[in-house]
Amino acid sequence: MKLIFELGAPGRRSTTLPSLDVPKYTLRNTKLRQEAAALPEVSEIEIVRHYSALERRTHGINNGIYLLGSCTMKYNPNLNEITAALPGFSSIHPLQDVASAQGALEVYYKASQYLNEICGMEQFTFQPAAGAHGELAGLLMIRKYHESRGEGGRTRIFVPDASHGTNPASATMAGFEIVSIPANESGEMDLEILRREVDERTAGLMLTNPNTEGIFNQNVLEMTEIIHQAGGLCYYDGANLNAVMGYVRPGDMGFDTIHLNLHKTFSTPHGGGGPGAGAVGVGPALRPFLPNGSVVKLEDGSFGLEELPDSIGRMRSFHGNFLVVVRALTYLMTLGKEGIREASRNALLNANYLKSRLEGTYEVAHKGICMHEFVLSLDKLKKETGVSALDVAKGLLDYGIHPPTMYFPLTIPEALMIEPTETETKETLDMVADAFLELWDKAHEDAEFLHQGPHSTPVRRPDEVKAAREPIIRYKRD
Ligand SMILES: *Cc1c(COP(=O)(O)O)cnc(C)c1O
Repeated sequence: MKLIFELGAPGRRSTTLPSLDVPKYTLRNTKLRQEAAALPEVSEIEIVRHYSALERRTHGINNGIYLLGSCTMKYNPNLNEITAALPGFSSIHPLQDVASAQGALEVYYKASQYLNEICGMEQFTFQPAAGAHGELAGLLMIRKYHESRGEGGRTRIFVPDASHGTNPASATMAGFEIVSIPANESGEMDLEILRREVDERTAGLMLTNPNTEGIFNQNVLEMTEIIHQAGGLCYYDGANLNAVMGYVRPGDMGFDTIHLNLHKTFSTPHGGGGPGAGAVGVGPALRPFLPNGSVVKLEDGSFGLEELPDSIGRMRSFHGNFLVVVRALTYLMTLGKEGIREASRNALLNANYLKSRLEGTYEVAHKGICMHEFVLSLDKLKKETGVSALDVAKGLLDYGIHPPTMYFPLTIPEALMIEPTETETKETLDMVADAFLELWDKAHEDAEFLHQGPHSTPVRRPDEVKAAREPIIRYKRD
């Protein structure tokens, strides 16, 4: 396919401007660029066809199910787009005076109120632009907390060995040392080892519950107590809160801070690096260290921006990605208290239904009820037939199914991590299960066919190492 720069012809345009109704002004030469900018010169229909063709070559939730585990690729209601596009929200300016932006501040305030209630926290900041950015904010607050108590020597953060990759990465960026705790047989963090490892160097724990393998840690209260008794604080990775929202509150599980991916659990389409919001909630211990600029209600009932003497400072320019918060608030208000619980229930029901349909054939990493996602291990299939997790993932593309997360967690060989999400119907889940079962048979009949797949997509097996090592990210016009 051609790039947009390779289309069109010199002088071709796609806009017609009205004729000038003000006096023409000629810029002084010093202000004029010497050469024309290297912009595409295309007609409107060329643009439309180009981007429509690109859209057809990608897979989005509008094309079909998106099984990517730990990503919550669910359908996001159109209503949220309508509210986000309201001119009162989309046309305001971040430098506008607070008095003239009260409605926008109320959005932040209300969103924080609802999320406080769902998570058992005291206040949310919406500055961080993504989940990982929220993790960094939470960890910087934990660091500042220890320093403010003269305990700067607390430098160790515990994470489970199957933690989401961003957890150890953000802890390292915040200046901490990572201690990875292995799981026991049931897939939960081994408490004996945790107990042995905590000491006066303990800064805290970073955990998601349910974990990345879709298992709810039953002994989470013991875990957070071990950390608190050692003087540490507990961080909850709530990127995919749809497993528990409305049922269990991270604050009640003993967590001092949490980030939520509003762009996963609370609507807003994501993937491809679009704008996100890693909202960070804090309990009493970390409240004084929040980034400056959280929205608070003042005594006269109006809304203002809070400045705190012990704040970690700003995490981002202005107030974060505001329209993501508008979508999240719309979603929260549409669903209401019961709807939020129902979304969780359906996320679990869908995951367990799909799991039970695959279980007799594929090997599930952990037996028993899962939460919003589960992990298959294709180790045995690979040993028997040579067909790998990658081959099956590629095979799914021929059914119009976006593959699951592959080779994660690293602790499970030939892993496929599947998260169907709450928004899929039984018919779609059955279609997915049938596809998986057919691929299983195919693996035994004609492994080569699967090594060669996918067979129907415009791009088949790109060289992933080359794509990562030698990316072409800049177009050079010759
Ligand atoms: C997606 C995810 C993150 C990171 O979120 P980004 O917005 O991609 O930075 C962190 N933790 C978990 C468990 C996630 O699923």
